[in-house]
Amino acid sequence: MSSVLNDPYHFETGEYRPPSEGGSSSLLVRLTRNCPWNHCTFCGMYKGEKFELRPPSEIICDINAMHRISLDLKEISIKSGRKGSITSVVVSEFFKKKPNLYFHPGVGMVISFLNAGGKTAFFQDADSLIMKTGDLTEVLTHLKAVFPSIERITSYGRSRTIARKPALDLAQIHHAGLDRIHIGLETGDANLLKIIKKGSTPEDHVKGGKKAMEAGFQVSEYWMPGLGGKFRSKDHALNTAKVLNLINPHYIRSRPFTPRPGTIFYGNASQNDHGPMSPGDQLLEIRQTLEALDVTSRICFDHAGNYWSGQDGRLLLSQSYEGYPFPEKKQQILALLEKGIQYDS
Ligand code: SF4
Repeated sequence: MSSVLNDPYHFETGEYRPPSEGGSSSLLVRLTRNCPWNHCTFCGMYKGEKFELRPPSEIICDINAMHRISLDLKEISIKSGRKGSITSVVVSEFFKKKPNLYFHPGVGMVISFLNAGGKTAFFQDADSLIMKTGDLTEVLTHLKAVFPSIERITSYGRSRTIARKPALDLAQIHHAGLDRIHIGLETGDANLLKIIKKGSTPEDHVKGGKKAMEAGFQVSEYWMPGLGGKFRSKDHALNTAKVLNLINPHYIRSRPFTPRPGTIFYGNASQNDHGPMSPGDQLLEIRQTLEALDVTSRICFDHAGNYWSGQDGRLLLSQSYEGYPFPEKKQQILALLEKGIQYDS
């Protein structure tokens, strides 16, 4: 352990980040380990893993290690006449000097971040807002000082955690540099939230989402089409739209439900009165949700689970991270969904 602590190149990288953060090659900075809630029945991401807050001093060492790697890469590049570009030759030279980093899951991530211009960062794992405000702002301030090219910093945050945080603390965190919060709404239906053990009520979702908006964050709410199965589909669709209408976040992202091995939901599959949904049923539910939306958000289908295709075999909905602006594109998406429903029925 002490050899790890004394290694100036040691840093941690968590496993998960939202698709849009992968798309923008964000620098992944691990602020906490795992999930402080960890009860959602559909989620297996951190099952069996203990939640831990990491001290700011440790996180700052991680940031410094990633910065050291970026300086080494740039030095190799400049010395070999490549003017700072991180080419495969530069990377290969780096690994010759640091062979112990070859299998580190985070080094490729740092290289992608640098090659994308070093513009975005994401705080891992499931709920960084649970940190003490002073600790979080200390990390934000250090990250921005060490990597001044960063233009956007984002994190996951639970509605309930945000709802409980004083408005002044949220404003301080935003002021220190956190730009966007990704929130797992999943559903706005009170009954379904209880069934999936989300640990948040519709009121928590509205309060958390609105407080985040008022503090100046960009808010990205993830909803889970198909979560209630066929039997709860209508309530799920309409109550989700109702909650989203009250928040009116910047982004609404579809992350369709899939029962995953290793989750409580999957383990209890035989007892679940869920009502499996066909692709056509899923599209009908999405249409019902979108029809009821009255927002000025961007609606995104950027998760791989939005797999539906049309008659031509191409994806029905764009998987762009910026999605479709509402209300301008509402009729266009409804027409696309209608095509998909016809095809999948
Ligand atoms: S809060 Fe998020 S990470 Fe934690 S158990 Fe629920 S879905 Fe999984």
